[in-house]
Amino acid sequence: MQRWKRRRKTPTVWVGSVPLGSDHPVVVQSMTNTPTEDAEATARQILELHRAGSEIVRITVNTREAARAVPEIVARLQDAGAEVPLVGDFHFNGHKLLREFPKTAELLAKYRINPGTVGRGCHQNENFRVMVEIARDLGKPVRIGTNWGSLDPYLLTEMMNRNARRRRPRSSEEVLVEALVESAVRSAEMAEDLGLPHDRIVLSAKVSRVPLMVQAYRMLARRTDYPLHLGVTEAGMGTRGIVSSALGIGILLAEGIGDTIRVSLTPRPGEPRTREVEVAQEILQSLELRQFFPQVTSCPGCGRTSSTFFQELAQEVDRFLKEHLPEWRRRYPGVENLKVAVMGCVVNGPGESKHADIGISLPGTGEAPRAPVYIEGKLYTTLEGPNIAEDFKRILLEYIERRFGGKR
Ligand code: SF4
Repeated sequence: MQRWKRRRKTPTVWVGSVPLGSDHPVVVQSMTNTPTEDAEATARQILELHRAGSEIVRITVNTREAARAVPEIVARLQDAGAEVPLVGDFHFNGHKLLREFPKTAELLAKYRINPGTVGRGCHQNENFRVMVEIARDLGKPVRIGTNWGSLDPYLLTEMMNRNARRRRPRSSEEVLVEALVESAVRSAEMAEDLGLPHDRIVLSAKVSRVPLMVQAYRMLARRTDYPLHLGVTEAGMGTRGIVSSALGIGILLAEGIGDTIRVSLTPRPGEPRTREVEVAQEILQSLELRQFFPQVTSCPGCGRTSSTFFQELAQEVDRFLKEHLPEWRRRYPGVENLKVAVMGCVVNGPGESKHADIGISLPGTGEAPRAPVYIEGKLYTTLEGPNIAEDFKRILLEYIERRFGGKR
């Protein structure tokens, strides 16, 4: 069944060992927030992000010290046995740093260039040329990433003036989106004119407002066939950041647009950086584009649920699966496709449990204190008594062993 629009056709761009493009799964990326010059802390966070599922990690390369630290970061990752392509994020001085630190230029798997921050006036094209020529000579891909927070002011002025001369001028927002796209497209053409192959270019055009972000990427998708890196820039904290990212990225993916995603969340104090990876994976998994972990379906609960027991059980099952997943992935290939249901009462409980591989329907208010367990659509057993949670986890484990245990 074709659920979403067919993926927009793109060439494949290799970022280290990771392919980006329409012939490959949508890739999850993230970015560190440690000072890159602190090689130990940065390598540690890259490892955390990578272990959480980030397939490419971007680091800022903003100073000489940061550029100098890259070889040590890569060595630390190699020592830890992690093969994760690193993208260098360059602004203002990238042309100098890439020239001055050839080892760093060699070790990074991709360079991110923002046409709005490569320099001003006559230096702009010259600095861009230096970066692109280094990428070309070292066989590196680049992401040309525009951002409405750092849009090239000359281009914007040019386009605003042109708009003012139109018989029916467009709104300033529309012109801004057009300018973001125009900046990315012109820069990509310039890069190709400088000899960078077509299949070494990825584009992005990030905006923090979802409707404008969607518009910008649709426009980019119509105008070019480069792979696109999706993201809602500065999406914000907590629920707002998650919802904005899920909507912006999700709408585009459903339209077949997008080859790699990054969720830009502002972490709450104490919140792990890996949250952005988890959310990116949830977006892809919810759209059923990729499967990263077993799916736990649970109802929201309502007045029919007699206690918080079923919420606790849903949480416990989720935690149980997450905790064991790294080990289970090795022992039980395919376990990430498992579907589990934990439901609160007889209304939707049995039905939803039957749609899952394994499901439990807990007793609601006024129902007999029994919890039927279904496996592959059939009633397997009915649990009673004080150990329902433990009994269900045991049955779940036995099912995983039976179903995925013999596939090595
Ligand atoms: S399954 Fe039952 S407890 Fe859960 S939301 Fe529906 S009616 Fe309420």
